[in-house]
Amino acid sequence: MTSDLAALVKSLDLPAKVRLLTGATAFTLAGEPSIGLHEMRFSDGPTGVRGLKFTGGRVATLFPNATLLASTWDERTAYEVGKLLAEEAMAQQVHVVLGPTINLHRTPLGGRLFEAYSEDPLLTGKLAAAYVRGLQDSGVGACLKHLVANESETERNTVNSVVDEKTLHELYLLPFEIAVDEAGAWSIMGAYNDVNGVAATEHNYVNNEVIKGAWGYQGLIMSDWFATKTAAPAANGGLDLVMPGPDGPWGEALVAAVRAGEVDEAVVDDHVTRLLRLAERVGALGTPRDYPADLPAPASLVRREQLTRLAASGITVLKNDGDLLPLDRSTSVALIGRHAVETIDMGGGSAVVNPPYQVTVAEGLTGLLGDRVTVVDGVDVRTRPVPARGGFLTAPSNGQPGIDVILCDATGNELERRFCPLAKTMIGMDDDFTGTVTTARLVGDVHADGQAELGVMGVGDWKISDGTTFALRTSGRGMGEEVLTPPTRTFVPSSAPARFEAEVAVPGMGLYGLIGKPAARETVDVIDEAVRAAAGTDVAVVVVGLTEEQETEAVDKSTLQLPGAQDALVEAVAGAARRTVVVVNAATPVLMPWLPRVDAVLWAGLPGQEGGHAVAAALLGDIEPAGRLVTTFPAADGAAPAWSVTPVDGRLEYAEGTFIGYRGHFAGRAPDPAFWLGHGLGYGEWQYSDVRLVTGDAPSITVTVKNVGRHESREVVQVYLRPVEPDEPVRLVGWTAVTVEPGKAARVTVHADRRLWRRWDAEAHAWSDRLADGGEFLVARGLGDVRATVS
Ligand code: BGC
Repeated sequence: MTSDLAALVKSLDLPAKVRLLTGATAFTLAGEPSIGLHEMRFSDGPTGVRGLKFTGGRVATLFPNATLLASTWDERTAYEVGKLLAEEAMAQQVHVVLGPTINLHRTPLGGRLFEAYSEDPLLTGKLAAAYVRGLQDSGVGACLKHLVANESETERNTVNSVVDEKTLHELYLLPFEIAVDEAGAWSIMGAYNDVNGVAATEHNYVNNEVIKGAWGYQGLIMSDWFATKTAAPAANGGLDLVMPGPDGPWGEALVAAVRAGEVDEAVVDDHVTRLLRLAERVGALGTPRDYPADLPAPASLVRREQLTRLAASGITVLKNDGDLLPLDRSTSVALIGRHAVETIDMGGGSAVVNPPYQVTVAEGLTGLLGDRVTVVDGVDVRTRPVPARGGFLTAPSNGQPGIDVILCDATGNELERRFCPLAKTMIGMDDDFTGTVTTARLVGDVHADGQAELGVMGVGDWKISDGTTFALRTSGRGMGEEVLTPPTRTFVPSSAPARFEAEVAVPGMGLYGLIGKPAARETVDVIDEAVRAAAGTDVAVVVVGLTEEQETEAVDKSTLQLPGAQDALVEAVAGAARRTVVVVNAATPVLMPWLPRVDAVLWAGLPGQEGGHAVAAALLGDIEPAGRLVTTFPAADGAAPAWSVTPVDGRLEYAEGTFIGYRGHFAGRAPDPAFWLGHGLGYGEWQYSDVRLVTGDAPSITVTVKNVGRHESREVVQVYLRPVEPDEPVRLVGWTAVTVEPGKAARVTVHADRRLWRRWDAEAHAWSDRLADGGEFLVARGLGDVRATVS
């Protein structure tokens, strides 16, 4: 039964109301027993429910990343992922999952694109709506983030994204609009950046006029973590909740602002009403909700099947000369590359989870082909050592990969002893004991044959066990950066110690860890070994990619080139092997200078904990890699309609307007790309015929697609509108997928979404009544392969 929220609000005095409007801890909200409000628990999102601790928390299922899931172009998949994430949340009694991330892939340099679906607003919005329904149908809240114009990370706390009104509405607000309209997302997160000179957390126009006004949004708008800068302007600007807590800019300052008449108490009441509505929806008001028992564990068989299937079906065949893929099971394979033995399954930052295990491509393919696979490590792919995977450091307490951390107060009292599986820990944010940490001792056992590089991360005064002391200081770029990208110092000891121990005097909140890796081998030796292995087998499969150095929150990329000597490795292998397949283990575009010299390319995204099984299943065709790209891959650095992520005098101009990605390439505003959004070959081959336009309130296109290939396959029929007006870009207006057996055909209908030919009238500040007319529909498999045009 719906409670009388107004009466509950009225029963609280002003300080009691304001107390509710800032988090109680990093990821919880305070309850209020007098009105039956219980504590609410939030967790990141978006591709794994990490829980209430930033690092070192509970073991959680690691899903394939957002771009890989989006590559299925399948709302049912997005819904299923929402459902499964709701199970993960319910298992931890988490009320709200902080996702989906629905910012657009404006420039391929954005460090955080791996968390977001696509460069296209319709694809993003439809998938987000399905994901939100999946979560909320189980009574777990979703949080659309980050509102708005938050497409890159450089200077992210202060950058002013300058976006014209038309572009804001037609492009960047559209995914939010679709997810609010079609799924009624229960919460939204305001971004770090400014939008046209006003902080997103204070943006009266976006928050109050558009979202809560024009869209009639009843949900709650929370701030991104540490994003709120003010009391009265943010409260008046439509922000309902400051995160995290317990401290923040509201509290007494907001009470004072109300008493001084700067904020109407009715505004506070509205914020509290929205908070209580959220609580009611997630079962934290009145009788608390029940949680199902026996939810699947992160390492359960059912999760293994789901995750392998979800990841493999998003994997995308970019090239497949002579139908080399799927590989024949009798093939002998040289499997080469650092990403084959240390597959990257997630990006960096707040989306990181602590998975139960991660299957590498080497493990996955060897599992299917046995000793027909020869595995060869590749060239180095990182510039910094990381808390190495594969047991380079193990914790003395239990021998598991990771380290032990001992936290002490000023008198030397031990406050807590932690095992940290990721070899790093958050201090000052995840702590729930009484007392202040003043020193932390970090200990790991080193497993290295020969020389190793060791180091530490975190702000403070360090003392290493060999007696060396030094200080690491903050970058001054703000709390988020401190937490996510702390400073590091590394050194190469003359011989690697069996145990590595370091102590740090901790000045505040931050991320601390030990880092290390075996010293790198000479590149020429690595490449020689790979070439020899490639020459001796039927097929070489080279796994290349990015790491969390490139794909992470808080930092952008500067190039699309693969790091290290990976291009040289591929060139050398392609020169020696009979046939070469390249698997790209990255969420976002990379350059492929070797493309003409390899036979096949599979784009594998960041495939989650079952990554290696998914890639192996895709290579052998056990599951069709039926993905279609969600972002256009430029052919060279700079060759995209929007490129730079570096603000000039604090301003980042979205000067390309609505012409991002494929829209700009198609209009000739950037050279032809290497691969278009929507490209993906799957394992079928398709003939299109009998294309018809059915006009009506919203037009639809019908077409017959025949699978003339040798394998059952899933085809994604895409329809783009090319308007007559030259200042209007081509745009995706709909798609429909169908699975067809070889030799069979299917009749497919694609409904064109009316929202894609509304026009925003910047003079009237409203959608214009006039829908665009004329123009043509392109029926395509990505705009590089247009199969029919109808007008
Ligand atoms: C990120 C958010 C995230 C929050 C909480 C911020 O740094 O931008 O997406 O939900 O941290 O971890």
